[in-house]
Amino acid sequence: MTKIISSILVSLFFITTFYAQQPTAKNRTNKDNTIQTQPKLIVGIVVDQMRYDYLTRFYDKYGEGGFKRMMNEGFDCRNNHFNYVPTYTAPGHSSVYTGTSPKYHGIIGNNWYDKEIKSSVYCAGDDSVEPVGTKDKAGKMSPHRMKTTTFTDENRLFTQLQGKTIGIALKDRGAILPAGHTANAAYWFHGQDEGRWISSTFYMTQLPKWVQNFNNSNIANSYFKEWNTLYDIKTYTESTADDNSFEGGFKGKEKTTFPYDLKALKDQNSGFELLKSTPYGNSLTTDFALAAIDGEDLGKDNITDVLTLSYSSTDYVGHNFGVSSKEVQDTYLRLDKDLERLFNALDQKVGKGNYTVFLTADHAAVEVPSYLSSLKIPAGYFDGKAFREKLNAFLKATYNADGLVENYSNNQIFLNRAKLSEMGLKLQEVQQTIVNEIIAYKHIDKAYTGMSMTQASFTAGIEELVQNGYDQKRSGDVVYIFEPGVLSYSLTGSSHGTSFNYDTHVPLLLFGNGIKHGHSFKKTHITDIAPTMSALLGIGFPSGATGQPLEFVLEK
Ligand code: ZN
Ligand code: ZN
Ligand code: ZN
Repeated sequence: MTKIISSILVSLFFITTFYAQQPTAKNRTNKDNTIQTQPKLIVGIVVDQMRYDYLTRFYDKYGEGGFKRMMNEGFDCRNNHFNYVPTYTAPGHSSVYTGTSPKYHGIIGNNWYDKEIKSSVYCAGDDSVEPVGTKDKAGKMSPHRMKTTTFTDENRLFTQLQGKTIGIALKDRGAILPAGHTANAAYWFHGQDEGRWISSTFYMTQLPKWVQNFNNSNIANSYFKEWNTLYDIKTYTESTADDNSFEGGFKGKEKTTFPYDLKALKDQNSGFELLKSTPYGNSLTTDFALAAIDGEDLGKDNITDVLTLSYSSTDYVGHNFGVSSKEVQDTYLRLDKDLERLFNALDQKVGKGNYTVFLTADHAAVEVPSYLSSLKIPAGYFDGKAFREKLNAFLKATYNADGLVENYSNNQIFLNRAKLSEMGLKLQEVQQTIVNEIIAYKHIDKAYTGMSMTQASFTAGIEELVQNGYDQKRSGDVVYIFEPGVLSYSLTGSSHGTSFNYDTHVPLLLFGNGIKHGHSFKKTHITDIAPTMSALLGIGFPSGATGQPLEFVLEK
């Protein structure tokens, strides 16, 4: 009897010490019993086209409850970068949530040339699904081209599908890719003459009541009002003159200056699409996110849910007006207010300390090249048409054949491999011949053969970034890189896509449950975010994750 009791006591002792020594996420010690040990809700925020220095440039103008709250209460990774090219929206969102780069998740661009079907495909386009909430083909979308899992998928698997995932963004790809393959729902905004949040049969057969109610409300329409600066424009000393020649502007308004009368501009600027290109698009996203938290009961029970939010308007405004514009500054000051509204609602609905937020971007952006040129900084514009004509003429002269190039896209050249073998040409030799030729062309700084990307392993420099963005199955035969400051773009507005710091350096802020307070200049990568979330939750890593958990941001 005594023997049995003592052996039970011994086992109990072992069990207790064993668990006491295991610092798993589940039994994180906690002084305050009112706070959940696991986050009830993770909110992942991607700000489309946000540069790291938007945190510091506008710091003095931000309120206490938005960006600054994240910086002052949470952890600020100040040297966070993309570790691949191209730095576009779809690869960006995929990499944040899969913890790996296009080499593994396969989202090599927003659009790319599909070698098998010999035509261009859209990252989220899916003809096998039907639109929900609209009849428009804008609803025929799913994440089927993304090859690996997201941490949101891993959370669904870990919780036996009890933890929810909801994805929200104006842009379909900003909603669909982060939410992963197992999402309960992804919602995106269909502008044009509809102005509705929509989805696809990949997720559901009809919109839930709360989405229908939101769409039937007047909320989207209410944003067709004047867009003026949030504060007196004279106080916007962190941006250039409102009226300058580096801004695009809207149809129907000659000057690129405040105020913008959105009601008057609506018809000439594709109806509800116009809202996307103003800070009100981000406000509408916040309105919808708050409705989702209620409608889906997010963060209500003890099983972790994930809300993926992407703020798309920052990208549209940046493309239109440029990094240094007053319009971009105003868009960030207003986004700061939307974040404050979101965090206050989370405090109220989920409870302070019960949720975890991270905020990052899908890529940053370059100053308008014509503006850089005006300041004598090397920059310029790449003429794609001239490039293609020159190369085609060269190939004709060299091989006495037409149509050797099948497609040009995302700074890659796709060769007609069938024709090459028909002519008895060696793929590797033709790739190298093209590299040797185009390296002499204007604004091309570097060029690589597809073969070199698959036959060696690069561990540093731009070659590593090119390789991390190179999918052997989907990518092209030659990859070329522009000189710094060069875009293939209009002469107004900013864009992105390169491996330079102006495109790769983005914020990474984390705060809430399980996150330390502090900051670091240690280099972190965008692919570290998903493994960090997996570590926080104690769940499996996404299937292709190559990043590392950022131990120094986690309390345990
Ligand atoms: Zn983007
Ligand atoms: Zn302006
Ligand atoms: Zn963009």
